Amino acid sequence: MSTVHRLHEQASLGERFKSFALEQVAPHAHAHDSEQTFSVSVIEALKDQGYLGACLPAVAGGLGLDMTAYGSLCEALGHACTSARNLLTVHDMVVHTVAEWGSPAQRDAWLPVLARGERIAAFALTERSAGSDARGIETEARETGSGFVLNGSKSWITFGQIAGLFLVFARTGDAISAFIVESERNGVEVAPIKDMLGARGSMLAQLSLTDCLVPKENMIGRRGKGYPHILTDALTLGRYTVAAGTAGLQRACLEASIGYVRQRKQFGKPIAEHQLIQRKIAAMATDAAAGKLLVEEAGRHLDAGHPRALAQVAMAKLFTTRAAFRAASEAVQIHGANGCSADYPVNRHLRDAKILEIIEGTNEIQEIIISRYA
Ligand SMILES: Cc1cc2nc3c(=O)[nH]c(=O)nc-3n(C[C@H](O)[C@H](O)[C@H](O)COP(=O)(O)OP(=O)(O)OC[C@H]3O[C@@H](n4cnc5c(N)ncnc54)[C@H](O)[C@@H]3O)c2cc1C
Repeated sequence: MSTVHRLHEQASLGERFKSFALEQVAPHAHAHDSEQTFSVSVIEALKDQGYLGACLPAVAGGLGLDMTAYGSLCEALGHACTSARNLLTVHDMVVHTVAEWGSPAQRDAWLPVLARGERIAAFALTERSAGSDARGIETEARETGSGFVLNGSKSWITFGQIAGLFLVFARTGDAISAFIVESERNGVEVAPIKDMLGARGSMLAQLSLTDCLVPKENMIGRRGKGYPHILTDALTLGRYTVAAGTAGLQRACLEASIGYVRQRKQFGKPIAEHQLIQRKIAAMATDAAAGKLLVEEAGRHLDAGHPRALAQVAMAKLFTTRAAFRAASEAVQIHGANGCSADYPVNRHLRDAKILEIIEGTNEIQEIIISRYA
């Protein structure tokens, strides 16, 4: 395919993703936030479009998007609703892990089910005492004759309340391995977590595993490969989706601000005509353009399998999330008291933006990754 043809195709895909997100996701974003739940109709719409298998090849039941196109999808969803992008993030981290690390039998068993959205997948790494330092997890998988018995507790599991399947990281002796755990297994218990600062539609849960027996076939990759190999691979994808979605959030803050400054009048003229307001808009617009470019560069590195992809993704995540927090804070400032009320989406954007600086590895962790590569 020629470069011009590819650019045309990417542009039309991008438009398709934006229309989908605006028409089918954005109208639910406020309710997701205020009611702390996630609309079934949005999940159905994502399924109908095949977006739950967006980056799987067509033979495995997916859409076969490359990372650049997939980034546009995440951008469009992140613009509409952070929780919708979060759903895609955690689901696809598991899809990607099974596709990359699973055996042929595991791929055949799970990928079509996940691509069709028959089960929503969640990613279960973090524990109360082990966040940034994943090596510190205490959940244990003890080998028995018939499989592995899992015991432990995972915290802050996005969409854990509705997941039909979890990718669980657990200690196998001195190393860490990864397991598929279906939600209906004995010993699986899910407790909703409410009242988070942001991403309030992401249906977080605490996942407890008590003498939960999984067959040997549920181990993904070889024993001990969970950390660092599988985890780093999954987190890189997750960080990319967050960066792309956050570029969408930057755009949302900019658009909301532009709309507001044109119609809000103070001192006899639209506030858009005050230079101090123009400076805020200029900073937001420049940051949004820079964030978009960094995400696109990260997508190209991922598509090319470039050794610097990990660092490019970390830079994109660090930059977009910081810039989105600045943009959201300025957007609230521009909206004045209206921005502090629940009637304007910038209120939600500010709370969501803070969450994005923490999930999928905090920004301090991104800085450590970037400085190592630098
Ligand atoms: C809304 C939400 C959804 C989430 N979803 C999931 C999920 O689906 N699955 C999952 O497994 N987890 C999930 N998490 C957990 C998330 O991945 C962790 O919160 C994150 O990795 C940070 O861990 P922590 O919160 O324990 O912070 P800590 O690791 O305790 O860090 C606390 C502070 O210390 C800093 N710090 C830590 N180590 C260093 C260092 N070496 N150098 C400098 N600073 C450092 C951190 O940057 C941070 O500022 C979610 C969290 C949130 C808020």
